[in-house]
Amino acid sequence: MTSIFTKIVSGEIPSAKVYEDDLTLAFLDINPASRGHTLVICKPELPSLLDLPPDLLVATTRTTQLVARALMAALEPDGFNILQNNGSAAGQVVFHYHVHIIPRWSGDRVLTPWRPGAASPSDLRDIAALIAAQVGKE
Ligand code: AMP
Repeated sequence: MTSIFTKIVSGEIPSAKVYEDDLTLAFLDINPASRGHTLVICKPELPSLLDLPPDLLVATTRTTQLVARALMAALEPDGFNILQNNGSAAGQVVFHYHVHIIPRWSGDRVLTPWRPGAASPSDLRDIAALIAAQVGKE
C-alpha cells in the first residue's frame, strides 16, 4: 500500500514543504506538537530505521540538521527534540521512515520526559552483553 508520505513526495497530496533534495523531503506536520513541528522523510518508502541503507541514513540525518538549523534561525525556539518512532508500540503511525523535529520553548511541556527507572550494575552488564552479542549479526 502506498504510504501517505509517498503521496506527498509524488505531489498527489499537498504539504507545507520546507526543503527537498533527491533523496529527502521536509514538510510541516499536519498536527503539530508545537509551532514549526517538521517531518524529515527519505523519499523511498521504507518502514523504519532498520530498513535504511547507509546513503539514506546519511541523507536524512544531513537534512535533519539542515532543517533544524533553519528552524532555529526562523522561529527562535529555545531548543528542539528529535523524535523517531519505530513500530506501533513506539507510537509509529506512518510506516514510512521519518524524523520529527519538534521545536521547544522553555516551560512548554510539549513532551513529558520519561520516568527514570533503576537497574543494578549486574542488570546493566547482562543486558549490555545480550545486545553486544548481536551487534552486526543481522
Ligand atoms: P509517527 O507517529 O511517528 O508515525 O508520526 C506520523 C506523523 O505524521 C504524525 O505526527 C502526523 O500528524 C503526521 N502526518 C500524517 N499525515 C500527514 C500529512 N498529510 N501531512 C503532514 N503530516 C502528516
